[in-house]
Amino acid sequence: MKATIATLPGDGIGVEVVAEGVKVLQAVAEKYDHRFTFEHHLIGACAIDATGTSLPDETLAACQQADAVLFGAVGDPRYDDPTAPVRPEHGLMALRKALELYANLRPVHVYPALMAVSPLRAELLEGVNLVVVRELTGGIYFGQRQEATEQNLTAHDTMVYDASEVRRIAHLAFKLARQRGRASGGNKVTSVDKANILASSRLWRRIVTEVATGYPDVTFETLLVDAATMHLLRRPRDFDVILTTNLFGDILSDEASMLAGSMGMLPSASLGAGAFGLYEPIHGSGYDISGKGIANPLATILSAAMLLRHSLGLGEEAKAVEQAVEAALDQGYRTADIAGPTTTAVSTEQMGNAVATALS
Ligand code: NAD
Repeated sequence: MKATIATLPGDGIGVEVVAEGVKVLQAVAEKYDHRFTFEHHLIGACAIDATGTSLPDETLAACQQADAVLFGAVGDPRYDDPTAPVRPEHGLMALRKALELYANLRPVHVYPALMAVSPLRAELLEGVNLVVVRELTGGIYFGQRQEATEQNLTAHDTMVYDASEVRRIAHLAFKLARQRGRASGGNKVTSVDKANILASSRLWRRIVTEVATGYPDVTFETLLVDAATMHLLRRPRDFDVILTTNLFGDILSDEASMLAGSMGMLPSASLGAGAFGLYEPIHGSGYDISGKGIANPLATILSAAMLLRHSLGLGEEAKAVEQAVEAALDQGYRTADIAGPTTTAVSTEQMGNAVATALS
């Protein structure tokens, strides 16, 4: 098949890991006789430096015309002032909004070869296979806010959801649970909110509970977010699809990343109504390791696998990439974040090469 993939490496380690994601996609194209065209564009701090804006029009237009987007990360210490008018993160938020990507899927898979790297005991981790479905274009990140000033040291943010925003992501989560149930035996949605305190959470719970009645074959439960953070560490195996708001999903999925051992292992997909999607590792631009060639590219490579499956309909190829990642880990390849004290770490590029070789 022919496909156009917009690649937005962004800043810091985003550039290093996206190079390996593209390498693996090229290996897929070669092995399965596909023609992928990669179009590189600017976003984040590098775009501010070059054009004065974090999301140039040309980048947005290229994404709108592509079949899918492979994204790295944005963020640069030079733009760290959270009140600055132009910030790298605004580019990503504006892109997700403009592309109507309202659902962020973050699967957490624990690889047997990496159990020792997780801070949790191996017996708690065996069989963990969950996905966090985070609402991405509403909630407190997009509500009206008021900064404090020197004259008035109060500030507020607003968490707003309307029924249609909750309904569309709830349907997506229940359909996903159904699909996963067929593939892996899981078949449950856990909706996480703070309905004992927040009005927006009470609406969230009401609408999700209504949607659940249309999926009687999917087990449904609700959890308060404070309890969910605890249960995710105490009994992670019990979760299948975790459906939650923008803010709670941001926090819960970083917590869940530690089950897998490192931020460098977790892929994500941002999806809207159709097959189009934006695929990115959950981590940021990694100030402390940027430019050293030691970042773990597996989260980006696994994001590329999600791209193949969801946006291009290439399930077999996606599976082959996931198996190649597992093979590289089984062969002992480890970047520094997952190496442990006694293993010699490989570079970002060596890990990418190991996966591409295992694939071919
Ligand atoms: P970060 O995710 O960049 O890094 C957190 C820690 O995890 C660091 O110690 C880093 O070295 C490590 N890490 C992250 N990815 C890794 C990888 N692939 N391999 C090995 N180790 C890895 O978060 P941060 O340091 O809080 O933020 C840095 C910048 O990234 C900030 O500007 C932040 O706003 C931005 N950020 C962007 C995104 C995004 O683009 N989606 C997401 C999160 C943070």
